[in-house]
Amino acid sequence: MIKENLAEVEERIRNACKKSGRSRDDVTLIAVSKTKPVSMIQEVMEEGIIDFGENKPQEMKEKYESLPKNLRWHMIGHLQRNKVKYVVPRACLIHSVDSLRLAEEISSQAVRDELTVPILIEVNVAEEDSKYGVTVPETEALIRQIAPLPGLAVRGLMTIAPFVENAEDNRPVFEKLRKLAVDIKSKSIDNVTMCELSMGMTGDYQVAIEEGATMVRVGTGIFGERHYTIE
Ligand SMILES: *Cc1c(COP(=O)(O)O)cnc(C)c1O
Repeated sequence: MIKENLAEVEERIRNACKKSGRSRDDVTLIAVSKTKPVSMIQEVMEEGIIDFGENKPQEMKEKYESLPKNLRWHMIGHLQRNKVKYVVPRACLIHSVDSLRLAEEISSQAVRDELTVPILIEVNVAEEDSKYGVTVPETEALIRQIAPLPGLAVRGLMTIAPFVENAEDNRPVFEKLRKLAVDIKSKSIDNVTMCELSMGMTGDYQVAIEEGATMVRVGTGIFGERHYTIE
């Protein structure tokens, strides 16, 4: 099943790239493996995927330890400061930074581990109460505060779009995030690049790609439904 699911996702990514005149190489597919067992991750690895997304530090740590070290682990979930120590040495990218306090904690841990950690700023574009992230108007000020911290590199923006029936409804959300990135890039802030736009999930990744996503985070579309109660 996983093999067929991945083929389908790959086909849709290619179509979205073609439709928007982008190269397939400009989009990284992150397989969101949260709640899923190591055996399923291995099946996905057999299809050549090395980017995996997790939202719980402890779960990422356990999977990191039981799988080959060439995998790239993306922290995509809300991160508590006391869990930062598990994530910093293992994540290739932290997508969910939304406060100066969290960035400071990542910075201190990165300095202790002698690493530079790439991060994205999570933006709550649609300003949903249920979601983490800074608002669009707050984003530049936060980035200016975070940019000088040692051991960090701001690489772009991430958003979790609203749950919608029709993916087209999220197009304006993705467009807003891209415009915000272009705007911030034009300010040429030291230690800040806006190379990555992490946006699009199972329900709307094609639209996100058409609007400029460089990373899409797909869970259900690859692994099937999540069943939190039995994991
Ligand atoms: C769970 C999750 C995803 C994947 O969601 P699907 O709808 O299963 O593709 C993507 N991004 C974040 C931040 C998530 O928590």
